[in-house]
Amino acid sequence: LPPSPAVMQAAMDAMAVGNLYPYSGEDLRAALAEFAGVGPELVMLGNGSTEVIDVVTRTLVGPGDETIIATPTYAFFETQTRLNGGTPVFVPLSDAWELDVPGIIAAVAARTKAIFLCSPNNPTGNSWSADELRAVLATGVPTVVDQAYLECGHAESFAPLVASHTNLIVARTMSKGFGLPTLRVGYAIADPWLIDVLHRVRIPFSLSLVSIWAGLAAVREPEVLEHNRRYLTEERGRLFDALRAMPGVRPYPSEGNFILVDISATGRTAPDVVKETLEDHILIRAMTAHRLTGSHVRVTIGTTEQNARFARVFRRVLGIEAPLPTTVT
Ligand SMILES: *Cc1c(COP(=O)(O)O)cnc(C)c1O
Repeated sequence: LPPSPAVMQAAMDAMAVGNLYPYSGEDLRAALAEFAGVGPELVMLGNGSTEVIDVVTRTLVGPGDETIIATPTYAFFETQTRLNGGTPVFVPLSDAWELDVPGIIAAVAARTKAIFLCSPNNPTGNSWSADELRAVLATGVPTVVDQAYLECGHAESFAPLVASHTNLIVARTMSKGFGLPTLRVGYAIADPWLIDVLHRVRIPFSLSLVSIWAGLAAVREPEVLEHNRRYLTEERGRLFDALRAMPGVRPYPSEGNFILVDISATGRTAPDVVKETLEDHILIRAMTAHRLTGSHVRVTIGTTEQNARFARVFRRVLGIEAPLPTTVT
């Protein structure tokens, strides 16, 4: 869904003074803090939540250190750990994608500098409970919860837990539910002491004035966000039903802007299916970088028309004859 007229106007206004350096975006910081229900001193802006995760990892992890990563998940946690000389320790989710809390606690060692969780989790689409998170936080290890997909559905926000847990860092973004990935607006929510430390590590002016002003315009239009959330939730439900009706295809319920699909029972491999759908100009993703075994693909939710076209192409590629439910055709 394209940006609203107000967001585009704010971006144009910023370009009109593009010959000047940006400021640090204190107003955007305050607006996102209010949106998340915390004080501004608990927030650090980042050039996307990827910058937040990068700064957190550079701050906490050095050569010889370890991080704990619940897999399958976002591959960036592993790459940033390794780039800083650290070693990721993987704690797999169960076959039903449940978080192995005892496994995470048992993996904590003297050199563990961070635990990475993602809720809703990319690529499985499910989310963790506050009780599970509290049990992990009780280890005392700095714990990053990446909530990039929070605004895509109705998963629980962990921002309120920051007040009582100084080792919790929540990473959020305007890239997914707000639908503004090109703005590169992300933010960390953590204890003010830790936010202060992260600010010293972060590169100054990492957000452009376009990002700051257009981001501000978007937070000030909560009705647009709610419209996007409803549209996405409805389309995700419809595509889920269509996938579930295909023999041998197993979609997993998701709170993200994507659905993970197990196609093992069709006898096809993920790279083959990706290649064939690409011939119809539809790019889905084979789930190999996410440390998933078996044959899984992930499809992003698009517009009503795109989702219907995907369902038709996917069925043809998989050689499925059974008709689609009428809700999706
Ligand atoms: C897309 C994604 C991000 C990246 O977000 P940016 O804010 O655009 O940098 C972060 N985490 C996860 C899990 C994602 O899927």
